[in-house]
Amino acid sequence: MKITSVETILITVPFNSGAPSQMIAGRPRTTLDILFVRLDTDDGITGWGEAFGHSITQGTKATIDSLIAPMLIGRDASAHGVLIAELQQRLHIFGRNGPAMYGLSGVDIALWDIAGKAAGLPLYRLLGGTARTELTAYASLLRYTDPAVVARNARAAVERGYRFVKLHEIDVPQVRAGREAIGPDIALMVDTNCPWSVRDALDMARRFAPFDLFWLEEPVWPPEDHGGLAAVRRGAGVRTAAGENAHGLHDFRHLFEAGAVDVAQPSVTKIGGITEQRKILALAEAYGVTAIPHCAYFGPGMLASLHVVAAMPQETPIERLYMDLEASPFGRYTEAVDGRMAVPQGPGLGCDPDPAVLAKYRTHPPSAVTKRV
Ligand SMILES: [Mg+2]
Repeated sequence: MKITSVETILITVPFNSGAPSQMIAGRPRTTLDILFVRLDTDDGITGWGEAFGHSITQGTKATIDSLIAPMLIGRDASAHGVLIAELQQRLHIFGRNGPAMYGLSGVDIALWDIAGKAAGLPLYRLLGGTARTELTAYASLLRYTDPAVVARNARAAVERGYRFVKLHEIDVPQVRAGREAIGPDIALMVDTNCPWSVRDALDMARRFAPFDLFWLEEPVWPPEDHGGLAAVRRGAGVRTAAGENAHGLHDFRHLFEAGAVDVAQPSVTKIGGITEQRKILALAEAYGVTAIPHCAYFGPGMLASLHVVAAMPQETPIERLYMDLEASPFGRYTEAVDGRMAVPQGPGLGCDPDPAVLAKYRTHPPSAVTKRV
């Protein structure tokens, strides 16, 4: 089963986040970028992947088009594990975390989609199967800064049926507003995106103590300071979560050896795809660390996360960004209803993207980014 064509499709979709203005990854945004990776094979199976993400999608797209796609043409999609292992090594000089690894992640997800379609099975069944047909989602609110907006959206998320709410705020008034809005019975997480020194993180973790956080995410700058994060975890007695910015399996090993986290968050569109993510889930199990994957996306990466999380032996919540897209490439499969998300039951990822959505929102004209063979 040879790969005959590799195409990247970048779409940008307007969204409503329930706030007047919105920062995503440090930039004001009114649209969400989703980068699709499409692989075609000579036996007619098409696989879809997603490569990270947000404001770096143009860079990731260029990296796939110019660097990774030529390495894929003519290769056997059914020898997937060997191909990914080879590409991990060939691409290492271009960074173990960044556009090359994001691109490889998208390719890996597309190869798993192909594997599922070739087998005629939904991906979660290739990964071990499950009796669960839907998963608990947690609402991952964006950063609003205004406590009144935090309160309004946190309350709205609970009214929509979410039982877990995560804020992306970095100060006490906003976290207090969130907790007061949702009451004591809803799990509250706070994701800070690496703002603080260890000393400041310890101080803030103690100031957040009255709000009974389910976890405190990435309180320490830089994310590779695993010893510093461990010091916050021990010193403040707070559950810590991290991993969306880790560099693969070995970085997670260091994170676990340092005793830095209660919750490991490998991100399927960043870490090397499903193949690398599954290694990290096994490693987390060996270290007694809970794994709750990072999933800040709405493309094939979200479907991949649904399948991976569904196949985990213990029931695990799945992250869903709290925003309403003007159009979804996967229709109902990106929606949470009453705080629950359906596990797609079709072969592979279970659903192909809606061609009308891709056509309407794509940022570049269709082009043969690599020549067909
Ligand atoms: Mg995060």
